[in-house]
Amino acid sequence: MTEKTSRTDLAELDRPALEAWLEARGLERFRARQIFRWMYRHGVTDLHAMTDLSRERRAALADEVVIGTPAIVEREKSSDGTEKLLLELADGRRIESVFIPDTPSMTFCISTQVGCAMACAFCLTGKMGLVRNLTAGEIVGQVRVLVDAVNMRGKRFNIVLMGMGEPLHNYDETMKALRILADEDGLAISPRRVTLSTVGLLPALERLANEPIMPNLAISLHAPDDATRGQLVPINKKYGVADIIAACKRFPLKRRNRITFEYVLLAGVNDSPEDARRLARLLAGVKSKVNLIPLNAAAGIAFERPADEAVDRFARIVAEHHLTVSVRKSRGRDIRAACGQLIVEGQRRSPAQQLATVAFGD
Ligand code: SAH
Repeated sequence: MTEKTSRTDLAELDRPALEAWLEARGLERFRARQIFRWMYRHGVTDLHAMTDLSRERRAALADEVVIGTPAIVEREKSSDGTEKLLLELADGRRIESVFIPDTPSMTFCISTQVGCAMACAFCLTGKMGLVRNLTAGEIVGQVRVLVDAVNMRGKRFNIVLMGMGEPLHNYDETMKALRILADEDGLAISPRRVTLSTVGLLPALERLANEPIMPNLAISLHAPDDATRGQLVPINKKYGVADIIAACKRFPLKRRNRITFEYVLLAGVNDSPEDARRLARLLAGVKSKVNLIPLNAAAGIAFERPADEAVDRFARIVAEHHLTVSVRKSRGRDIRAACGQLIVEGQRRSPAQQLATVAFGD
């Protein structure tokens, strides 16, 4: 084993795990709180800078651990203020994370996988296939890096798990990341400020319904019927529209919370007045809000963005049925940072990636 791989990566430990790790070395459990404060509140990645530990302890710990932190390879800023960061992970794989200011809140859009296995027909990340899952440390690491990169330390921001990947396809690491993010001595980001967006993997959705830490939920619906949705979101053949809606109706929501239903509008595919009416009928009785996303077109995507009038008409019909509806302004399109435009070219296809394409391809 190389020296590097035998070291413990503190970024991968949630608080109970860090406490146990410290105890096993004869150190006090409360040291975990100190280390969390340094890492997450102050952004320190060097053990030697953690000055409430004695010099000898710091030196001893520094020999045993790393604090894995994604490296910024490239950053681009859109004319609308959106910033896209290309980050490199310890194994050289690359992901993208996006900072979207003033929506009116400040939002970090974070990835949960390198690539994605879901292969949605209109999404560029889907074209990559799944390369690998991110670890909890890598998911949180994006936030640790963004906070300083975009000057948000100590300020309030929201997190959307809407970058690369399907969060419920990487369930355990995503939930562990949410626990680390929520830690009071760390970044203290309440799950209420986190939105998890999913195609609706049913077993994982049922599991999520029983979690103590519960983010806001967004479902990528995109069509009101199985025939159309099956064309757009291949996994719909396994978990269909009716089952997803039934699971949403059962999902435990706090009093005023609602589930967001994302709906990418594709010209001539799912944007007719009849589609809008069917969507409204489908969501009757669900505590919902509808978020329409006019397609962010890209080379290699065989769909078109509807005209603004078609988007307005669709939104109006949904609203007439007494549903809350908003149209997502696409941000960062000039730097390809908008929804579905995150792709890292030139990564080797892994065996998992090839398998994923087969498994969901038909
Ligand atoms: N895998 C998760 C989260 C990532 S995608 C999910 O599917 O929900 C975040 C949102 O962007 C999803 O609603 C997705 O369908 C949408 N999206 C993907 N490609 C898009 C594109 N080209 N234009 C607009 N929205 C897109």
